[in-house]
Amino acid sequence: MTQENNGVWTSWNENLTYKYKSLYKITTEKELQEVVAKTTKIRFFGTKQSSADIAAGMNTLIDMRAYNKIVSYDEAKRSITVQSGMILGDLLEVIEAKGWCIPCLPDINTITIGVALATGTHGTSGYLLCEYMTSCTLVLADGSLKNIQKSDALMQAVRVSLGALGVMSTVTFTCEPIYTLHVKEGPENDSEWLPKINERLKKHDFLRILWLPHTNKGYVITGDKIAPETKIIENLGPSYLKHRRKASKILYKYSHVFPWITAIANRLLYKGFFSANKEYKGSLYQATVTKSRGATLELAEWTIGLDTFPLVFDELKKEINNWNNKSFIHIPMDIRFLYKDNSWLSYAYEKDTVTMGCVSRNAATADTYEAFKTIETIF
Ligand SMILES: Cc1cc2nc3c(=O)[nH]c(=O)nc-3n(C[C@H](O)[C@H](O)[C@H](O)COP(=O)(O)OP(=O)(O)OC[C@H]3O[C@@H](n4cnc5c(N)ncnc54)[C@H](O)[C@@H]3O)c2cc1C
Repeated sequence: MTQENNGVWTSWNENLTYKYKSLYKITTEKELQEVVAKTTKIRFFGTKQSSADIAAGMNTLIDMRAYNKIVSYDEAKRSITVQSGMILGDLLEVIEAKGWCIPCLPDINTITIGVALATGTHGTSGYLLCEYMTSCTLVLADGSLKNIQKSDALMQAVRVSLGALGVMSTVTFTCEPIYTLHVKEGPENDSEWLPKINERLKKHDFLRILWLPHTNKGYVITGDKIAPETKIIENLGPSYLKHRRKASKILYKYSHVFPWITAIANRLLYKGFFSANKEYKGSLYQATVTKSRGATLELAEWTIGLDTFPLVFDELKKEINNWNNKSFIHIPMDIRFLYKDNSWLSYAYEKDTVTMGCVSRNAATADTYEAFKTIETIF
């Protein structure tokens, strides 16, 4: 274990900074127990990518990232136990090599496992990542260990617990056999994709809609499970598509000064990056999870019951297209779908849910991004 004193903690997108007195980098469970036991107030962090202000702001911090080993496998049960500071992408590479998968994944692979579970990180057309955890060990405030199994009532509280019930130390996932997804993407008018949501959720194994505000379009991504050897006509579109995030950053550069620029930028981005159809196949991880991002950003996400979503969407669209409103929204708003669960703090608690993400490509000026306020009011 190493210790640094009197430093400054800075979040990934540099929007949050805090002074700390002691920062411990732990590598074993014993070290984690020791530091937690001797400290009254403590926070722990992974890759500092949460936009919510929960990862630092205390005198004592624990960096979980070097606590990142595989503890064990159970081939018969298709389960794997890892230390909670492991990066999600590293876990996914290992389980894919075994022919296993976690069947619902977020669009980010750089976060740590403990955080992804504790903050309710999710993908689409499935459950929150923490629903695939079958047991875990928590380090409690006095430094003692508590093991929790899927069958324990406490698990429903622990899954999404934001670190408040203790630090997740080791985590066990029970995986499913890996499958191949046939992915098709393409633009559709809002009047087309919106009424088809329920039908598509039944028909496809994967559904995600990137809504393109101020263009009347959504970019619909569907995925269907196929036999791995199935031949498809692959179409990845022009090679410049990989520069979308960089192009967005440039086009939105002054949108905090002149918010209406956003509406023009969105139409250009739609024409350049979202107007073509694409088709390809791969595992869920390989085909649908972003592996690198050219720039930082600020993002927030709201959730609403699937049954209420069309109403909320109409209201939001009306409001942001009102020319008096300064809430011009950067592309895309990410629309994803979650099945109901029974974890106490889950946003899909007992209700099929839609999540709607909103991004500001200018992380540094995100506090002046009116869109966050308008969406908050409407949701
Ligand atoms: C570009 C980008 C894309 C994203 N995509 C998605 C997405 O597709 N789906 C989605 O749901 N989210 C997404 N997110 C949000 C992201 O998953 C969460 O913000 C996640 O919490 C970030 O992980 P981190 O390791 O950076 O956490 P940090 O910000 O470092 O830590 C967050 C908090 O987690 C808690 N914590 C840390 N370690 C532990 C532990 N071992 N046990 C218990 N609690 C712990 C602590 O309270 C800590 O304060 C995205 C974020 C970004 C920046």
